[in-house]
Amino acid sequence: MAPRRKLAAGNWKMNGLSANLSEVEALMAAHPAPGCDVLLCPPATLLHRLAQTCAGHALAAGGQDCHAAGNGAHTGDTSAEMLLEAGAAYVILGHSERRADHGESNAEVRAKSVAAIEAGLAAVICVGETLAERESTRTLEVIREQLAGSLPGQISGDTVVVAYEPVWAIGSGLTPTLEQIAEVHDFIRAELSRGFGEDAGDAVRLLYGGSVKPSNASEIFAVSNVDGALVGGASLKAADFSAIITALEAA
Ligand code: PEP
Repeated sequence: MAPRRKLAAGNWKMNGLSANLSEVEALMAAHPAPGCDVLLCPPATLLHRLAQTCAGHALAAGGQDCHAAGNGAHTGDTSAEMLLEAGAAYVILGHSERRADHGESNAEVRAKSVAAIEAGLAAVICVGETLAERESTRTLEVIREQLAGSLPGQISGDTVVVAYEPVWAIGSGLTPTLEQIAEVHDFIRAELSRGFGEDAGDAVRLLYGGSVKPSNASEIFAVSNVDGALVGGASLKAADFSAIITALEAA
C-alpha cells in the first residue's frame, strides 16, 4: 500500500478579492516544491485567477461547493464541470456552513460528490458533530451517519478526501483534545475500511479541520490517521498557512 500523501487544504470561505492573490504568490515563493499536497479553495469569483496564478506550481485550486446537476435552471449555482474548467482539481462538499446555512442533507452531499467525481474533481467531504452532539456522547454515531449518507458508492484515494471538522471547533479557537481527534480519525478509518474494503479505506486521506493554526499544527499532525488539515482562517495569510505546511511536511 503506497503511503498516503499528506494534504494541507485552505478554505477561504467568502473572503478574498484579487488583491489577496499576493498571498498565493507569497505561499508559492515560500514553498517552491512542497513536500505535501497543498490546496487553496478561494471564493468562486477568484477560482480561475487563482488557478492561473498557480499554473506550473504544485499548488492546486479547488471550489467550495458544486451543484449535483451538470447544468440547468439553478440560479447562483456552479456545476462541477464549471469548477474543473475554471482550474479546480478538488471541491469541498458538505462543509458544516453549507449544511447549516443552506440546509444541505447527507443525500445532497452524496449527489454532489458523485457529480464532482464524474466531472474529474476530487471531493473533500466534510463531517463533524455539533457541541450538543458531543456533549450527549453522540459524536461517533453522528459521524457514522454522515459518512454512510454523504459518501458516494465507491471511493478511492484519488477521488475522495474526508475532513473531520467538529462544528464547535470551526472558527472558534477551540480544538478537541488530541485523544478526541485520534478517536474520531481512527473511527473514520475503520468505517471506511468496513464499508468500502481495506484498500480503499486505507487510501483515502483524512484531514482534521477546526481552528488549526501554526501553534497547534505539529501536535495535530502527529495524531494517528491525521493526513493533513482543512484550514479556514489561518489559510488566508501566507505566513500562517506556510507555517502549517511546514509542520505537515515535517510530520
Ligand atoms: C473550516 O472552515 O473548514 C475551518 C476549519 O475553519 P477554521 O480553520 O477557521 O476553524
